[in-house]
Amino acid sequence: MALYNYTIKQVENMLHKKEISAEELANLSFEQIRAVDGDVKAFLTLNEENVKAKAKKLDEEKTYGKKLAAIPGAIKDNIVTKGIRTTCASQMLANFDDPLYDATVTEKLANEDSLMIGKLNMDEFAMGSSTETSSFQKTYNPWNLDHVPGGSSGGSAAAVAAGEVMFSLGTDTGGSIRQPAAFCGIVGMKPTYGLVSRFGLVAFAPSLDQIGPLTRTVEDNARVLEVIAGHDANDSTSSKNAIPSYVDALVEDVKGLKIAVPKQFLSEGVSEEVKESVKNALQMYELLGATWEEVSLPHLPYADAAYYLIANGEASSSLARFDGVRFGNRSDNATDMIDMFKQSRTEGFGEEVKRRILMGTTVLSGRDNFNEAYFRKAQKVRTLIANDFKAAFEQYDVIIGPTTPTPAFKFGEKIDDPLTMYTSDILTVPVNLAGLPALSVPNGYTEAGLPLGLQIIGKHFDEQTIYRAAYAYEKATNHHKKRPNFGGASE
Ligand code: GLN
Repeated sequence: MALYNYTIKQVENMLHKKEISAEELANLSFEQIRAVDGDVKAFLTLNEENVKAKAKKLDEEKTYGKKLAAIPGAIKDNIVTKGIRTTCASQMLANFDDPLYDATVTEKLANEDSLMIGKLNMDEFAMGSSTETSSFQKTYNPWNLDHVPGGSSGGSAAAVAAGEVMFSLGTDTGGSIRQPAAFCGIVGMKPTYGLVSRFGLVAFAPSLDQIGPLTRTVEDNARVLEVIAGHDANDSTSSKNAIPSYVDALVEDVKGLKIAVPKQFLSEGVSEEVKESVKNALQMYELLGATWEEVSLPHLPYADAAYYLIANGEASSSLARFDGVRFGNRSDNATDMIDMFKQSRTEGFGEEVKRRILMGTTVLSGRDNFNEAYFRKAQKVRTLIANDFKAAFEQYDVIIGPTTPTPAFKFGEKIDDPLTMYTSDILTVPVNLAGLPALSVPNGYTEAGLPLGLQIIGKHFDEQTIYRAAYAYEKATNHHKKRPNFGGASE
């Protein structure tokens, strides 16, 4: 048996019928990690001893009644885990061996009896689109090891795609769940801002950050989101809305669904293969009884610029706490206190993080009117973008387009040219600026065999409609059934 052949629901049935035990599930996960992670390198830390003890306890008590009982999952390394190293893939936190508490999402997964297999690689402090900025290791795309898995949740996507775990958590500030999900041929959901608690998530840009699930199927995804969503008094931005059953929303029926397709999503910079795959998807939706129309969201072309001004401005403030005193690496080479701050940050942060902090402090500064000219102006653009979406959602149920302009690129292709790397986010960042939910679902493959993603954007707190649209599409296609021909995981 291999984990990637089963859904969470199937495993649940097998547990109840005693066809499998929690211990066997844990072993399957660790065996697959041992078989493939030397090549994929998705994991930074394994939690083997604790998982085995927990699995044993579940088997002894035969309590498989919880929503994620004995399901192997893993967590991005910017989400804190009590007693387990949490590094944000940065030298700054290389020795952060015990964060002393669990993030709310970590706790919720544990309360539903899932097995927390380990912590996953990422771009340093979630800044990047390829996982190449991790200060520990590169993560490799299971579909083709010459290609990046995407980022910043590259480890989260690769671990699921390689069959090492059945689900993972990632974080999405400008696309970091959806883009790696698209690059690795899996499902990734960025929930509405405020749906999932950020308590215990190391902040990058707090007005944009959201935690969400990455899975192989839409149904698995809905199940994990159901567990992690919900109000949390520890997060002042957390919504008080009641959480519906996302699993119950999964009906294979999109008759009458009204889809908008922004023409800006299919314009310059988007590859022909990507455009073609979206057209095919729209045809499928028509066959299923939905309708679609092209619309214009006129401010989308400004989203990337606004995003990088806002995200980096916030990041420069969020990361100020890593000073060698309150948090993070303390340099041994300092001559006095001020020098200690300087040296600790110089040694602890990598190049991309420093670039963001410099850019962020610049656009926040009052000097030469920078704050007004850049940061505040970007906030105004953010409102215009949110209004564009609002207008479209008055007439349509969902907005559909590609998740990324191209399939997964090769290592080294963009890393030395930050601006080119930043433009790879043009189709995902508008959603974060508007606080909307959006999901990437597998949408076929390029001629070279690399996966593509279809992005489905919904109204605030309407994850149900997104899941329904994604589920109907998944059921009508075979894209999600294909596996990377890797580590014994071929079709
Ligand atoms: N790639 C984007 C960035 O580098 C988004 C990152 C994210 O969503 N965490 O900022």
